[in-house]
Amino acid sequence: MYNVEFYKGDYLERQRKANDDKCVCYVEHHFNSSASPSANYVVVITGSNASQTSKNWGRWYAQAVAREFDLPVGGNAGIQVGGYNGRGDFNLRHTYMPAILLEPLFASNPQHAEWIRSDERQNRLARILCESIQRFFQKGGLVAFSVGHKYKTSRPNDRGAKVYGGGMEADYAEEILNKAQEMIEGIDKPQEHRKINVIQGDEVLWTQNVDPDSDITWDPVRGVLRIDQA
Ligand SMILES: [Zn+2]
Repeated sequence: MYNVEFYKGDYLERQRKANDDKCVCYVEHHFNSSASPSANYVVVITGSNASQTSKNWGRWYAQAVAREFDLPVGGNAGIQVGGYNGRGDFNLRHTYMPAILLEPLFASNPQHAEWIRSDERQNRLARILCESIQRFFQKGGLVAFSVGHKYKTSRPNDRGAKVYGGGMEADYAEEILNKAQEMIEGIDKPQEHRKINVIQGDEVLWTQNVDPDSDITWDPVRGVLRIDQA
């Protein structure tokens, strides 16, 4: 029910093509970078003209990554509207569909850099992105992906920030988007029920539909997940 298209060229050109193709949503993937190696928050940028859907979607993603990796969120509850001092705004502002720019981890932080290179952590980031798209764009459609920095006509050698310990931001961002593409294109029906998952590492071991009104509590001492029907 979903197809993914990677848009290349300069950022304005990517957005115009995605508009022409009537994409349902637009994602540009980056990693953050700072002179301080301890910088460690999750943030999503939206355009200065972003819709409420873009903002809600961006916050949902940022907060899910923050919980998964045990990190704080940056910006305003996870989003930075209009980018940092104008940076990031131009990358999204020309889209007609909801659009977000992801900065899930810091390429400059040694611990984050290890995660950025880890196949398992990449899968976790891809799964959160996939779930966010499924949640916010439930009817399916064409999903626009843009790899930050890479494939720009005007600066073909740009790969973004150096990742601590080796590699470049854009190449890892592309790996994660490739994984997310496979997950998203594998979805065969809309999520019509509230679901709980048991996940080990990056593998979903068990999935169960639950009543939308039920309370779910975890007792770590007994190891019991209790589902109480309202
Ligand atoms: Zn970047």
